[in-house]
Amino acid sequence: MTDTRSLIVVFDGLRPDMVTPALMPHLHAFQSAYSRFPKSRCVFPSETRVNAAALATGCTAGRHGVVGNQFHAAAVFPDRWIRTSEREDLLAADAVFTGGLIQVPSLGERLAAAGRTLAAVSTGSTGSGWLVHHRAEALGQFRWSVHGPLHSTPADAWAEIERRFGPPPATATPQTPRIDHATTILLDYVLPTLDPDVAILWFTDPDYTYHYRGIGSPETVAALLGVDAAFGRIIDAWQRAPDRDRRAIFVVSDHGHITNRDRIDLATAMTSGGFSVDTQADGPADLGLVPGSAAALTLRRRDNGLSRAVVDWLAEQPWCGALFSDGPDATAGAIAGTHNRGLLGLGSGRTADLVFTLAHDDAPGDGGWAGGGLHDSNLPPAGGNHGGLHPREMNNMLLAAGAAFRTGFVSPCPAGIIDVTPTVLHLLGLSATGCDGRVLSEALIDGDMPVHETRRLAMAAGRHAHHVTISRVGTTQYVDGGGRD
Ligand SMILES: [Zn+2]
Repeated sequence: MTDTRSLIVVFDGLRPDMVTPALMPHLHAFQSAYSRFPKSRCVFPSETRVNAAALATGCTAGRHGVVGNQFHAAAVFPDRWIRTSEREDLLAADAVFTGGLIQVPSLGERLAAAGRTLAAVSTGSTGSGWLVHHRAEALGQFRWSVHGPLHSTPADAWAEIERRFGPPPATATPQTPRIDHATTILLDYVLPTLDPDVAILWFTDPDYTYHYRGIGSPETVAALLGVDAAFGRIIDAWQRAPDRDRRAIFVVSDHGHITNRDRIDLATAMTSGGFSVDTQADGPADLGLVPGSAAALTLRRRDNGLSRAVVDWLAEQPWCGALFSDGPDATAGAIAGTHNRGLLGLGSGRTADLVFTLAHDDAPGDGGWAGGGLHDSNLPPAGGNHGGLHPREMNNMLLAAGAAFRTGFVSPCPAGIIDVTPTVLHLLGLSATGCDGRVLSEALIDGDMPVHETRRLAMAAGRHAHHVTISRVGTTQYVDGGGRD
């Protein structure tokens, strides 16, 4: 089958276990009817813009280059980190990095090279909206952002959409008004007017409401019902389409969510531990820190004593999870007691020297939904969060539907967000050479079940035992989770 066009619907942050008949009736019925990948993973760090780029390229963070939701690059901003939620920061980075911010071909570029089209409609941040179709302007293709014409292209399409459907609704919690508006733009403008080969629709909920109200809050229930109702409209339109047999739908989330436990102020803790640390990209201290559920440390003094002291100290902290550094070995990092960060798909030179996660647990969190973790963010206590290696952060939604796919199929194979672009290209008869992800052959009507394996890799830094669990299908690697033992 080489003429199937795809719609990719992204439910930001959606936990697969929250797709229940009560909370998400349309999506629950849909996933039962088509192909579902319960072992799907996002890429690490389990953050939004890292995974927006992974969706758009079929590659892990080290390959595509957005190595964190915030990351240091002194050549771009010496005194702070790149805020990937802000398109202006991404454009600044894009202008400075040789070859651009995104280091591999994107879905939009691959389609355009084949004379095909991608259209994106986003209610996410200006950064995530840009990342799913970052060359739309240069390629003369379509991107609509709820944040206005500056972030959308082409200008005349924005004007036409505003004339027909009105201006975007104001921000709200939950974000249902904006999600409804974006769904209308997809169904009543993009599909009938542009008729793209591939369309991406990005719902900013439930992530937004999870973060600020908690994953078990009444507002989150409303957010889930809101995105589900919008998806119900999409299914209705799909089922009525005369060429439905040549239209596939992918449902994806970009990561999962867990509940915030205590906050660890990493910069303060490290300073109290006797280290010289700042949060600038190019600062005077020994260590440059980017805090988060996945924290990144640059060692500005190149001596083994410093790296040894940092790892030994981290290993003594009850809040520390798994530890990663660079190195020539396939599994161990060069700093004794650390895993190789390449296991995380973070081999890039843009990655900091040392990456570590914060401790987590699987006890009930907000609303009784399992999973919680320490954090270093400004989000509310008991708010939702993500970014680390909790299996519930790494486990994302992935569904595929359409005539090309099996019905009522639950895949036993590891899979991931990086497999969407290769599979979308395959459905159009196009090559996915160079992607880290793979074609989801096990779900295709005419496809085969691939061989797969899962390995748990243990490591000890002094008395601190930690692990990372990796799955493989062929040469494609997925990170299932990791943390302290
Ligand atoms: Zn997200």
